[in-house]
Formats: sequence, structure tokens, C-alpha cells
Amino acid sequence: MKLEDWHTHNALCHHAVGSIEDYIRKAIELELNTIGICDHFPFEFLKNIERIPYEDYAITLDEIKDYLSLAESLKDKYKNIINVRIAFEIDFFENQESALNTPLYKYKNHLDYILGSIHILDFHDGRGAWGFDDSRFRIDYNYYGPDKVYMEYYKTAQKMINSNEFDFDIIAHFDLPKKFNNIPNNKEIINNEVMKTLQLIKKRDVVMEINSGGLRKDAKEQYPSKEIIQEMYDLDISILLGSDAHDPNYIAWEFEKIINMLKKIGYNHLVHFKKRDKSYMEI
Ligand SMILES: [Zn+2]
Ligand SMILES: [Zn+2]
Repeated sequence: MKLEDWHTHNALCHHAVGSIEDYIRKAIELELNTIGICDHFPFEFLKNIERIPYEDYAITLDEIKDYLSLAESLKDKYKNIINVRIAFEIDFFENQESALNTPLYKYKNHLDYILGSIHILDFHDGRGAWGFDDSRFRIDYNYYGPDKVYMEYYKTAQKMINSNEFDFDIIAHFDLPKKFNNIPNNKEIINNEVMKTLQLIKKRDVVMEINSGGLRKDAKEQYPSKEIIQEMYDLDISILLGSDAHDPNYIAWEFEKIINMLKKIGYNHLVHFKKRDKSYMEI
């Protein structure tokens, strides 16, 4: 079967290597059916991000036009060889949807899909928002401890899914707080939040990304875990695959292994997106 990778970055986001064309060429070499170009949406219009080194996290507002026009010209250049899809990975910030929607609105008609993500948490305790998956904030992760981080993460995910103004198609790296292999002590309480969040995902009918990036991190497993994927299958939540490649060499990372696992669980379809429209392919 032909593979599709819906989550790749490139040098424009300031923390990845390789040009967009490098990713497309590598995807062609790997005989992928589709490559999703999905860079981080800018942060600079947000409030309460004083501690966030956001210039390292994303392209800037000024760079959006070039990102989209370059991606669109490459989509056209390679259209007979591979499907190139254009997207953004967008961070959710509670009560800041309108600040986000003002710049996003202008570019939405260029997008094939939107990944909704949470990389930043704000406990509203005066410490300020911080990036829990950024090793530079290890001290904050340790300050709160895994139980509080997981809890706040899933509460924030629930707000994201419940937000009518936050527009997205796919939820990315669902159990990201495990990245550095921090495991919560009270698993039962966290599992309850996971289940609540999955039910909201089903209700809103958004797609879940199976992200192989976790296999390259201390967690040593895809996001989300096999146990969560089993629950997703029981709830009939649709899925697709993303490598989260920040280097062309990680495109479609371990996808065959993941597809074997998904088939064992019972999944037999993956989702595609084109101009925000969802369709399915068999695996
Ligand atoms: Zn990134
Ligand atoms: Zn991400």
C-alpha cells in the first residue's frame, strides 16, 4: 500500500532542517502517495507568551505568504508524481482564538487541513505559559510534576475541542506529555481525563493523528499509546499518520510497523484531506 505522511516541518520554522522541496523529493523517493507540508503557525500576536522563545517555534507572520506560495508552486511542480497537501500546525491558547483567527482567516482558503496542537500550558499561577515538550523548560515540568502536567494538558485539550472558534481537523500527538518519559503517578485520574477527551473528539468528529515522532523520543512509543488507540477504535475515531519529521530522513518513520499495529487493533481505514474535505482509504 501507498503511505501518506501528514505531519512534516521544514527549515522555515527555525528548528527543522531541509527545504520544503527536500521533503517532497524524499517523499517521492520513499514512494509516498501524499506528503503533508504542515508548518507551525506563528505566535507573535498572542498574549502571555513572554517566556516562550516563539521565534524558535514557528514561522513569522511575515513569512506566511512565502511559505504558502512556495508550497503551492511545489505542489504544482510535482502534481503528477505525488500529492502535496498544505497545512498549518496551530497551537491552541485558551481565550485567544480571535487573536489567532484574524491572521489565519486571510490564509485559510490555501489550506488542505489544520492540525490542532498543544505544546504550551498556562497554569494561571503567575509563573507564565511554558512549553512542556521543550527541554529548556525541564525545570517547570519538574516544578509541577507529571500528574499536574498531564491533567492540565488534557483539560486544555478538552477546551480546544470544545472551542467553536478554534478551527481544526486533526488532533496532533495526543499524549505528548509523555515525551520525556514522565509517567503520572495517579494513572486512574489521568485515564479518566483521556477518556473524557476521546469522547469529545468523537463528538466533534475530528481526526486523530498517530504520530511516530514519539518513537524517536525518550517515550519510545508513538503518540498516542497502543492502549489509547484501542479506546479510539472502540469509539470509532478516525485516524491518519504523521511522522512529525523535522528532517527529511524521518519522513514516514516506522509507518509500516504502526500500520501493522493498527490493523491488529482492527483499524482498516486512514483519512485523507483535500481543501478541508475528508475522505478515506483502505489499509
Ligand atoms: Zn516543530
Ligand atoms: Zn507538534
